Amino acid sequence: SKMVLGVQALGNIRVFCRCRPLSKDETAAGCATIADFDAAKDGDLAILTGGTTKKTFKFDRVYTPRDNQVDVFADASPVVVSVLDGYNVCIFAYGQTGTGKTFTMEGTEQNRGVNYRTLELLFKIAKERSGTFTYDISVSVLEVYNEQIRDLLATSPTSKKLEIKQSSEGFHHVPGLVEAKVDNIREVWNVLQVGSNSRAVGSNNVNEHSSRSHCMLSIMVKAKNLMNGECTKSKLWLVDLAGSERLAKTEVQGERLKEAQNINRSLSALGDVIHALATKNGHIPYRNSKLTHLLQDSLGGDSKTLMFVQISPSEQDLSETLSSLNFATRVR
Ligand code: ADP
Ligand code: MG
Repeated sequence: SKMVLGVQALGNIRVFCRCRPLSKDETAAGCATIADFDAAKDGDLAILTGGTTKKTFKFDRVYTPRDNQVDVFADASPVVVSVLDGYNVCIFAYGQTGTGKTFTMEGTEQNRGVNYRTLELLFKIAKERSGTFTYDISVSVLEVYNEQIRDLLATSPTSKKLEIKQSSEGFHHVPGLVEAKVDNIREVWNVLQVGSNSRAVGSNNVNEHSSRSHCMLSIMVKAKNLMNGECTKSKLWLVDLAGSERLAKTEVQGERLKEAQNINRSLSALGDVIHALATKNGHIPYRNSKLTHLLQDSLGGDSKTLMFVQISPSEQDLSETLSSLNFATRVR
């Protein structure tokens, strides 16, 4: 097989930090920027925490508000491509609501994000390798809300509760989940739109709802080596996580409290799993949330993990920004 895009022996967990631009409203209100990108090229991000005090964080990459979707994907692509070589991969976006998680993963029609670019690249390389490999690519799109799995590609509502099962080969999967076979990139945007639009169904506020659920795109790849007949199965997860912000205790009651607790629980579980993997801690607590249980095959072992920590540049978001950067530091 040939080397594609300079794929190297990559470490297993990498953390990229991306800062969005100040919004129009923030600019109009004269918000100060607390992010200092002087050493961004070296992966250092400094946060002005008040007065002349700075706190520095180290990442594998730091993206300034001027870096675009192409810049970001260029660094993510080697990790993405490894799914065609039989590796399980997980890429997720973590951060406070409004920091660009959905922009990075989904993007917009004009500024397509990691999800679309990933499939585009997989089809391109699959075509280049068609003399030596055949690839079967299918996708599922689901949402985890209040520790329940919802199929975003299902055309009719299923009454059966979707549960995670382990196959005899040890793979984790969700029986009954729609797996849409995609043969070319032209089909992809539509499938992703169907998934994205389904998030709105049954909720009065789309943005609020999506900030409280994890949106997960799973790409299943079956590869057949035409030279030796060898077959491999691998999976790539692309995850737009629920907002990491902590709600003031006095503000949340009833349904909101339950949502907040479920989000805290699953994001903590994710942090715990990655921390345990990074520190080579014996027991990896995958089963503490639906999120980590679903991702189990793609977190740890020889799988590759990439985390985008999304932050706001605004002084108003300082405490949430520090909290996200601390989360990222713990897993690195
Ligand atoms: P989240 O999903 O984390 O809640 P969004 O992706 O919805 O955040 O981003 C909030 C807003 O900021 C959106 O209007 C989005 O288009 C814009 N935005 C986020 N990141 C960027 C960026 N890097 N460049 C330009 N606009 C961005
Ligand atoms: Mg979002």
